[in-house]
Amino acid sequence: MTLNALFALFSALLGAALGSFFDAVAERSAQDRSWWGRERSRCPSCGKELGPGELVPIVSFLVQKGRCRRCDAPIPKRSLAVEVICAVGAGLLAWRWGPGWAALLALAVFFSLAFNSLTDIHSGYIYDVTALLPILPFALLRSAGGLPALFDGAVGALLGFAVVAVIITASRGGMGWGDAMLMAGCGAGLGWRLTGLALYLGFMVGGIVALALLVLRKVERKTALPLAPFLAVGAFLALLLGPSILSYWRWGAGWPW
Ligand SMILES: [Zn+2]
Repeated sequence: MTLNALFALFSALLGAALGSFFDAVAERSAQDRSWWGRERSRCPSCGKELGPGELVPIVSFLVQKGRCRRCDAPIPKRSLAVEVICAVGAGLLAWRWGPGWAALLALAVFFSLAFNSLTDIHSGYIYDVTALLPILPFALLRSAGGLPALFDGAVGALLGFAVVAVIITASRGGMGWGDAMLMAGCGAGLGWRLTGLALYLGFMVGGIVALALLVLRKVERKTALPLAPFLAVGAFLALLLGPSILSYWRWGAGWPW
Protein backbone atom coordinates (compact mmCIF):
# COMPACT_ATOMS: atom_id res chain seq x y z
CA MET A 1 0.00 0.00 0.00
CA THR A 2 1.42 3.40 -0.87
CA LEU A 3 1.89 6.10 1.75
CA ASN A 4 -0.82 8.17 0.06
CA ALA A 5 -3.36 5.34 0.26
CA LEU A 6 -2.47 4.67 3.89
CA PHE A 7 -2.90 8.36 4.71
CA ALA A 8 -6.28 8.43 2.93
CA LEU A 9 -7.43 5.32 4.80
CA PHE A 10 -6.36 6.76 8.16
CA SER A 11 -8.15 10.03 7.36
CA ALA A 12 -11.32 8.14 6.38
CA LEU A 13 -11.30 6.28 9.71
CA LEU A 14 -10.74 9.57 11.55
CA GLY A 15 -13.60 11.06 9.51
CA ALA A 16 -15.99 8.27 10.53
CA ALA A 17 -15.07 8.65 14.21
CA LEU A 18 -15.31 12.46 14.20
CA GLY A 19 -18.54 12.34 12.19
CA SER A 20 -20.08 10.09 14.82
CA PHE A 21 -18.84 12.32 17.65
CA PHE A 22 -19.90 15.57 15.94
CA ASP A 23 -23.39 14.22 15.27
CA ALA A 24 -23.85 13.37 18.95
CA VAL A 25 -22.46 16.74 20.09
CA ALA A 26 -24.57 18.73 17.61
CA GLU A 27 -27.71 16.84 18.59
CA ARG A 28 -27.08 17.34 22.30
CA SER A 29 -26.23 21.03 21.83
CA ALA A 30 -29.53 21.50 19.99
CA GLN A 31 -31.35 19.91 22.92
CA ASP A 32 -29.39 21.92 25.50
CA ARG A 33 -27.87 18.76 26.99
CA SER A 34 -24.22 18.67 27.95
CA TRP A 35 -22.01 16.49 25.78
CA TRP A 36 -19.04 16.22 28.09
CA GLY A 37 -18.80 14.46 31.44
CA ARG A 38 -20.70 11.35 32.42
CA GLU A 39 -23.71 11.31 30.16
CA ARG A 40 -23.49 8.22 27.96
CA SER A 41 -25.06 7.58 24.59
CA ARG A 42 -28.39 5.77 24.84
CA CYS A 43 -30.90 4.16 22.54
CA PRO A 44 -33.46 6.95 21.96
CA SER A 45 -36.25 4.35 22.01
CA CYS A 46 -35.65 2.14 25.09
CA GLY A 47 -32.93 4.11 26.91
CA LYS A 48 -30.39 1.25 26.89
CA GLU A 49 -26.92 2.60 27.59
CA LEU A 50 -24.76 1.83 24.57
CA GLY A 51 -21.61 -0.20 25.17
CA PRO A 52 -18.30 0.25 23.32
CA GLY A 53 -19.24 -2.42 20.77
CA GLU A 54 -22.38 -0.48 19.85
CA LEU A 55 -20.57 2.81 19.31
CA VAL A 56 -18.11 1.85 16.56
CA PRO A 57 -18.88 4.20 13.63
CA ILE A 58 -20.44 2.54 10.56
CA VAL A 59 -19.44 -1.00 11.72
CA SER A 60 -21.93 -1.17 14.62
CA PHE A 61 -24.77 -0.06 12.37
CA LEU A 62 -23.96 -2.76 9.81
CA VAL A 63 -23.38 -5.54 12.40
CA GLN A 64 -26.67 -4.72 14.16
CA LYS A 65 -28.43 -4.34 10.81
CA GLY A 66 -29.51 -0.84 11.83
CA ARG A 67 -31.45 -1.93 14.93
CA CYS A 68 -31.08 -1.57 18.71
CA ARG A 69 -29.81 -4.80 20.33
CA ARG A 70 -32.35 -4.68 23.12
CA CYS A 71 -35.58 -3.21 21.74
CA ASP A 72 -35.04 -3.75 18.00
CA ALA A 73 -35.98 -0.11 17.27
CA PRO A 74 -34.39 1.19 14.06
CA ILE A 75 -31.29 3.35 14.57
CA PRO A 76 -31.73 6.63 12.64
CA LYS A 77 -30.17 6.26 9.17
CA ARG A 78 -28.98 9.84 9.53
CA SER A 79 -26.23 8.74 11.95
CA LEU A 80 -24.90 6.25 9.41
CA ALA A 81 -25.14 8.84 6.61
CA VAL A 82 -23.15 11.40 8.62
CA GLU A 83 -20.41 8.86 9.42
CA VAL A 84 -20.15 7.70 5.81
CA ILE A 85 -20.12 11.26 4.40
CA CYS A 86 -17.40 12.35 6.86
CA ALA A 87 -15.33 9.22 6.13
CA VAL A 88 -15.60 9.55 2.35
CA GLY A 89 -15.02 13.33 2.38
CA ALA A 90 -11.94 13.14 4.61
CA GLY A 91 -10.56 10.17 2.66
CA LEU A 92 -10.96 11.97 -0.68
CA LEU A 93 -9.30 15.17 0.57
CA ALA A 94 -6.38 13.21 2.06
CA TRP A 95 -6.03 11.27 -1.20
CA ARG A 96 -6.14 14.46 -3.27
CA TRP A 97 -3.49 16.31 -1.27
CA GLY A 98 -1.29 13.60 0.20
CA PRO A 99 0.49 13.98 3.56
CA GLY A 100 1.44 17.66 4.09
CA TRP A 101 0.21 21.13 5.06
CA ALA A 102 -2.47 21.26 2.36
CA ALA A 103 -4.10 18.05 3.59
CA LEU A 104 -3.98 19.18 7.22
CA LEU A 105 -5.63 22.49 6.38
CA ALA A 106 -8.17 20.87 4.05
CA LEU A 107 -9.16 18.32 6.72
CA ALA A 108 -9.39 21.03 9.42
CA VAL A 109 -11.71 23.11 7.19
CA PHE A 110 -13.75 20.03 6.25
CA PHE A 111 -14.32 18.94 9.86
CA SER A 112 -15.26 22.43 11.06
CA LEU A 113 -17.79 22.70 8.20
CA ALA A 114 -19.17 19.26 8.98
CA PHE A 115 -19.75 20.21 12.61
CA ASN A 116 -21.41 23.55 11.83
CA SER A 117 -23.60 21.94 9.16
CA LEU A 118 -24.78 19.41 11.75
CA THR A 119 -25.77 22.08 14.29
CA ASP A 120 -27.58 23.90 11.46
CA ILE A 121 -29.45 20.71 10.52
CA HIS A 122 -30.28 19.75 14.13
CA SER A 123 -31.26 23.18 15.45
CA GLY A 124 -31.40 25.55 12.47
CA TYR A 125 -28.62 27.43 14.20
CA ILE A 126 -24.92 28.03 13.57
CA TYR A 127 -23.09 28.92 16.78
CA ASP A 128 -20.75 31.92 16.49
CA VAL A 129 -18.19 30.21 18.70
CA THR A 130 -17.93 27.00 16.68
CA ALA A 131 -18.02 28.94 13.38
CA LEU A 132 -15.25 31.38 14.36
CA LEU A 133 -13.04 29.40 16.76
CA PRO A 134 -11.53 27.25 13.93
CA ILE A 135 -9.84 30.46 12.67
CA LEU A 136 -7.17 29.89 15.34
CA PRO A 137 -5.99 26.45 14.14
CA PHE A 138 -6.35 27.61 10.51
CA ALA A 139 -4.07 30.61 11.21
CA LEU A 140 -1.62 28.35 13.04
CA LEU A 141 -1.43 25.99 10.02
CA ARG A 142 -1.19 28.94 7.60
CA SER A 143 1.71 30.43 9.54
CA ALA A 144 3.79 27.56 8.11
CA GLY A 145 3.39 29.30 4.74
CA GLY A 146 4.62 32.64 6.07
CA LEU A 147 3.01 36.09 6.09
CA PRO A 148 1.48 35.96 2.58
CA ALA A 149 -0.38 32.78 3.53
CA LEU A 150 -1.67 34.37 6.76
CA PHE A 151 -2.76 37.49 4.86
CA ASP A 152 -4.51 35.31 2.28
CA GLY A 153 -6.47 33.68 5.13
CA ALA A 154 -7.46 37.07 6.58
CA VAL A 155 -8.72 38.28 3.19
CA GLY A 156 -10.57 34.99 2.75
CA ALA A 157 -12.35 35.50 6.08
CA LEU A 158 -13.34 39.06 5.15
CA LEU A 159 -14.52 38.02 1.68
CA GLY A 160 -16.59 35.12 3.02
CA PHE A 161 -18.22 37.38 5.62
CA ALA A 162 -18.75 40.32 3.25
CA VAL A 163 -20.41 38.36 0.42
CA VAL A 164 -22.94 36.74 2.77
CA ALA A 165 -23.48 40.05 4.64
CA VAL A 166 -24.35 41.79 1.35
CA ILE A 167 -26.82 39.02 0.47
CA ILE A 168 -28.44 39.20 3.93
CA THR A 169 -28.84 42.96 3.67
CA ALA A 170 -30.15 42.84 0.12
CA SER A 171 -32.52 39.88 0.48
CA ARG A 172 -33.85 40.21 4.07
CA GLY A 173 -34.30 36.54 4.80
CA GLY A 174 -33.08 33.20 3.59
CA MET A 175 -29.57 33.65 4.89
CA GLY A 176 -28.68 34.42 8.49
CA TRP A 177 -25.66 35.91 10.25
CA GLY A 178 -24.67 32.39 11.24
CA ASP A 179 -23.97 31.73 7.56
CA ALA A 180 -21.79 34.87 7.43
CA MET A 181 -19.84 33.68 10.50
CA LEU A 182 -19.50 30.24 8.92
CA MET A 183 -18.03 31.67 5.71
CA ALA A 184 -15.73 33.98 7.70
CA GLY A 185 -14.40 30.96 9.58
CA CYS A 186 -13.91 28.68 6.60
CA GLY A 187 -12.62 31.60 4.46
CA ALA A 188 -9.75 31.95 6.92
CA GLY A 189 -8.77 28.38 6.09
CA LEU A 190 -9.47 28.45 2.35
CA GLY A 191 -7.78 31.72 1.42
CA TRP A 192 -9.63 34.28 -0.71
CA ARG A 193 -9.58 32.57 -4.11
CA LEU A 194 -10.94 29.24 -2.89
CA THR A 195 -13.45 31.17 -0.73
CA GLY A 196 -14.84 32.91 -3.82
CA LEU A 197 -15.06 29.59 -5.63
CA ALA A 198 -16.64 27.89 -2.58
CA LEU A 199 -19.39 30.52 -2.42
CA TYR A 200 -20.09 30.21 -6.13
CA LEU A 201 -20.22 26.40 -6.04
CA GLY A 202 -22.24 26.42 -2.79
CA PHE A 203 -24.94 28.71 -4.22
CA MET A 204 -25.05 26.67 -7.43
CA VAL A 205 -25.49 23.36 -5.60
CA GLY A 206 -28.01 24.95 -3.21
CA GLY A 207 -30.00 26.42 -6.10
CA ILE A 208 -30.09 23.14 -8.02
CA VAL A 209 -31.18 21.15 -4.95
CA ALA A 210 -33.82 23.74 -3.97
CA LEU A 211 -35.20 23.70 -7.51
CA ALA A 212 -35.27 19.90 -7.57
CA LEU A 213 -37.08 19.81 -4.20
CA LEU A 214 -39.62 22.35 -5.47
CA VAL A 215 -40.24 20.43 -8.68
CA LEU A 216 -40.61 17.16 -6.74
CA ARG A 217 -42.93 19.03 -4.33
CA LYS A 218 -40.87 17.95 -1.33
CA VAL A 219 -40.83 21.54 -0.06
CA GLU A 220 -43.06 24.60 -0.28
CA ARG A 221 -41.85 27.84 -1.78
CA LYS A 222 -41.48 29.36 1.68
CA THR A 223 -39.78 26.41 3.44
CA ALA A 224 -36.50 27.47 5.04
CA LEU A 225 -33.70 25.10 4.06
CA PRO A 226 -30.57 25.02 6.22
CA LEU A 227 -27.95 26.73 4.10
CA ALA A 228 -24.78 25.65 5.88
CA PRO A 229 -24.73 22.15 4.31
CA PHE A 230 -24.74 23.71 0.81
CA LEU A 231 -21.97 26.15 1.69
CA ALA A 232 -20.08 23.17 3.12
CA VAL A 233 -20.52 21.22 -0.12
CA GLY A 234 -19.26 24.26 -2.06
CA ALA A 235 -16.19 24.52 0.17
CA PHE A 236 -15.57 20.78 -0.09
CA LEU A 237 -15.69 20.93 -3.90
CA ALA A 238 -13.36 23.95 -3.83
CA LEU A 239 -10.92 22.04 -1.61
CA LEU A 240 -11.06 19.00 -3.88
CA LEU A 241 -11.21 20.57 -7.35
CA GLY A 242 -10.56 24.29 -6.78
CA PRO A 243 -6.91 24.46 -7.85
CA SER A 244 -7.72 22.47 -11.02
CA ILE A 245 -10.68 24.76 -11.83
CA LEU A 246 -8.63 27.92 -11.19
CA SER A 247 -5.70 26.67 -13.27
CA TYR A 248 -8.11 26.62 -16.22
CA TRP A 249 -7.89 30.43 -16.04
CA ARG A 250 -4.19 30.12 -15.16
CA TRP A 251 -4.85 31.22 -11.62
CA GLY A 252 -3.00 29.78 -8.66
CA ALA A 253 -5.02 29.06 -5.52
CA GLY A 254 -2.32 30.36 -3.14
CA TRP A 255 -0.34 28.53 -0.46
CA PRO A 256 -0.67 25.65 0.45
CA TRP A 257 -2.96 24.58 -2.40
ZN1 LIG B 1 -33.40 0.29 22.22
